[in-house]
Amino acid sequence: MKLDRRKFLKIGAVAGGTAVCTTATPAQAREAREPDPNWYGMLNDSTRCIGCKACQVACKKENKLESESTLGDQAQLGKAIYDSPRQLSEHTYTLIKMAKDEKTGESTFVKQQCMHCVDPACQSACIVGALKKQPDGSVKYDSDLCMGCRYCMVACPFSVPQFEWQRAIPSIKKCTLCSETRLSKGQPTACSSACPAGAITFGKRDELLKIARHRIEAEPERYLDHIYGEREVGGTNVFYLTKPQMQFAGLGLPDFGYKAVSGVTESIQHRIFQYFIPPIAVYSILGGIMAYNQRRKKNAGIEGGEEDEY
Ligand code: SF4
Ligand code: SF4
Ligand code: SF4
Repeated sequence: MKLDRRKFLKIGAVAGGTAVCTTATPAQAREAREPDPNWYGMLNDSTRCIGCKACQVACKKENKLESESTLGDQAQLGKAIYDSPRQLSEHTYTLIKMAKDEKTGESTFVKQQCMHCVDPACQSACIVGALKKQPDGSVKYDSDLCMGCRYCMVACPFSVPQFEWQRAIPSIKKCTLCSETRLSKGQPTACSSACPAGAITFGKRDELLKIARHRIEAEPERYLDHIYGEREVGGTNVFYLTKPQMQFAGLGLPDFGYKAVSGVTESIQHRIFQYFIPPIAVYSILGGIMAYNQRRKKNAGIEGGEEDEY
């Protein structure tokens, strides 16, 4: 019998559920974490973005990342310039994509990157504490602690953490919010500094929300009356604005509701240790979560929701 990925995930979900049901009491979500007004973040205004990709280039330069064309990575290179490379990778921490709202036919550019979540699912999924929210608001990865399990990749609702598949000792790669290279020196992020159109605003979380609200109030015909990230998945430190004709799902930003998924993930992890659930059950549970995330992405019309490889 051919066991394709879909069947594997279904079996994993059932096995995981069984493992939890038979060895532990059901996991209950803990209280969600609250945002700190002093955390730094960014406001990505898709109505201002002209698709020049200066931010993408600045990020590569700041983080000393090679370009996909230099690497000859044809799988990552798209057919059109505005979709090249195709997705985030260990060499690309931020990406400008051309998005189209299928319902309205409206298109725009959108910046993809780590959202530096208020209550990060990646942090709560990491058994060894390799991902951690920092006092400046960034979510930092520590390769010295990482054991390469890739639970963070499964847990992230935005499919952000990337794995260095080609390396003997691989690490997880993602946007750092330029925490060590720039924020620690009192400088704004490299991508926001490079933007010639004012489409990326760097600042403290509360100030960014004020700026976003002011823009919506000042130009209601230009903006959809919603700040994505203010409350989505428990809140993020990276916010988005869009046109009224362009819903956030059209930008590739999932509608996962306002509740942080981290509480549930963390509670499952605690049960795993409390009841010594064996590794195969752990993978099964994570397979279930992965299937659930994929289904939600597909239902939300998110590109690559069903086809992404792990
Ligand atoms: S977007 Fe994903 S990787 Fe970034 S902080 Fe949130 S959960 Fe973690
Ligand atoms: S904050 Fe820094 S690491 Fe993140 S996308 Fe911008 S330049 Fe890249
Ligand atoms: S630099 Fe600014 S205008 Fe250019 S692609 Fe990036 S966000 Fe858009």
